[in-house]
Amino acid sequence: MNAKPVIEISGAGPAGLAAALAVTAAGQQALVYEKRADVGSRFHGDFQGLENWTTKGDVLEELASMGINAGFEHVPVREFVCFDPDGIAQTFHSGQPLFYLVRRGGQPGSLDHALKQQALAEGVEIRFNTPASNLPNGGVVTEGPRRADAIAAGYLFDTDMADGIYAAISDELAPKGYAYLLINQGHGTLASCLFNDFHNEREYVERCVAFFDKHVGLRMDNPHRFGGSGNFSLPKTARKGNILYAGEAAGFQDPLFGFGIRWALLSGAAAGRALAAGDPRQYEQVWKRRLRSYHQTAATNRWFYDRLGNRGYRLTLQHFPKNGDVRNWVRHAYTPRLWKRAWYHLVAARRYTPLLNPHEDCDCTWCRCNRHMKAPAT
Ligand SMILES: Cc1cc2nc3c(=O)[nH]c(=O)nc-3n(C[C@H](O)[C@H](O)[C@H](O)COP(=O)(O)OP(=O)(O)OC[C@H]3O[C@@H](n4cnc5c(N)ncnc54)[C@H](O)[C@@H]3O)c2cc1C
Repeated sequence: MNAKPVIEISGAGPAGLAAALAVTAAGQQALVYEKRADVGSRFHGDFQGLENWTTKGDVLEELASMGINAGFEHVPVREFVCFDPDGIAQTFHSGQPLFYLVRRGGQPGSLDHALKQQALAEGVEIRFNTPASNLPNGGVVTEGPRRADAIAAGYLFDTDMADGIYAAISDELAPKGYAYLLINQGHGTLASCLFNDFHNEREYVERCVAFFDKHVGLRMDNPHRFGGSGNFSLPKTARKGNILYAGEAAGFQDPLFGFGIRWALLSGAAAGRALAAGDPRQYEQVWKRRLRSYHQTAATNRWFYDRLGNRGYRLTLQHFPKNGDVRNWVRHAYTPRLWKRAWYHLVAARRYTPLLNPHEDCDCTWCRCNRHMKAPAT
């Protein structure tokens, strides 16, 4: 009897596990190398949003069509409060969920744990504590971010606050980014998501704490600091021979607000399918068709967002149509348009390159690309 060919994958994040599930769904064997002791170890039980705005249809249906079960806790979010730089609140609503609140980390109920359980149940082999340095026979590389284009830093905590989703847009809280406070069932995540000035992250986090305390009566029990980085880039190709890059390892992440889970799952599954079909070139066509124009559009949006400043944030929020559906509005902003793609090619792509590595001579904690430049700890 011929043994089934084994397709190797490095990284057991959402992209790697989606790739493995696609391989087993095609009747082949998947072997995943994970350098850490468990899935989700980059995360700490924090809440994240699985975006549901880039398509008209629901993201969970799209995942189901790819063979990914929604066996993780997911709370549909149809309402949130957003504060402008002056602390003026506006409540936004949507008919369909704008996003699903999910948890990240290795604990039961998290996205990462559910993907692992499904993969194991379907016969995927995962080798933990096993970094993959190369994949000589080809495979899928899904090792997460390579450098920090944006960071999120803040606190995880227990709380007796009522459930709620809050955001605040102000360069004093999160330069070129946004601050968020997510409360669900007695747990909270508060963070400053910065696209600039990483050196002063602690100060921004403490400002966010003071801001949400003032505006929503923040109550944090047992707070723990957490943080992480994200990488955005739009590669010309995500393939080197029969090695396919997916998820953040390829730079696939929304450059406007840093939502990467959905793109990681989509690209991982597409890479797994292509290798299982013995046609790695197919992957290039699929990710370019499904992700490239969204990426270009979001990069153009980021170009404009970078230029808004507090005055622009204030005006944008004020001009949101009263009683409008925020999901339709955000989907409209993310929908690929010819002029946005043209703007990307003419202007944003050029400006985008510095965004990809804005810290060339930096020695902050987050610039992993320049790790060698750091002074030894004293
Ligand atoms: C603080 C924070 C908040 C975020 N919030 C959101 C959000 O609200 N919504 C959203 O959509 N996205 C969010 N993101 C982004 C999202 O988490 C990522 O885009 C997503 O996890 C990318 O998935 P991935 O599989 O590509 O990479 P990862 O999730 O990083 O997984 C990569 C895996 O590869 C492993 N690995 C690395 N190197 C090797 C190696 N050499 N060999 C073997 N294994 C290796 C790592 O240990 C890791 O398990 C956030 C990110 C951060 C840091």
